[in-house]
Amino acid sequence: MKKLSLCLLFLSIALISFSFATNPARKSPTRALSRSLDFPVAGKRSNIKGFWGDSRDGGRRLHKGIDIYARKGTPVVAVCDGVIVNKDHTPIGGNTLWLKSASHPWTAYYAHLDRQLVREGQHVRKGQVIGTVGNTGNARHMPSHLHFGISPGSGWLNPMPYVKYSPKVTVAKMPAKKKAVAKNSRRAKRHSRR
Ligand SMILES: [Zn+2]
Repeated sequence: MKKLSLCLLFLSIALISFSFATNPARKSPTRALSRSLDFPVAGKRSNIKGFWGDSRDGGRRLHKGIDIYARKGTPVVAVCDGVIVNKDHTPIGGNTLWLKSASHPWTAYYAHLDRQLVREGQHVRKGQVIGTVGNTGNARHMPSHLHFGISPGSGWLNPMPYVKYSPKVTVAKMPAKKKAVAKNSRRAKRHSRR
């Protein structure tokens, strides 16, 4: 009986280590994978200033992503093709989006967004604008930045190797704000009446 349980223990350890070794999300991504993704913040004027493992809340927790600083309203894009599986507003993350990759075993997390420009369940293409950089949630007293995370289902992975070599998308035109559109169309009507 003892022998059997010992055997089972070894077997389960072997199985667990095998699943870790074969889970593609656990492996450090290759440079080719990073190159195949788009950088989450569009344009050249963004800076990564917050890193994986940085101390937060006076050392009570560690930073589980990277912070990409850019001006408020800078377009945020889908790093890959996928589906918006969650669109939310939370006290910490503010306006958040979760993008489940169509071809990779992980979900990208976007937080502190100013605007969310997609709906839950929407399919998006790599490079598509899904929101804008802001400082919502617990970043409201900080300069605008995107908190970007990668989750393989449970827990987090360091997103840096994923975006290190990713090209930055140039977005020519942002979708106009709804209010501005309404104002402009009213003005247009007024003009046409004249
Ligand atoms: Zn952050």
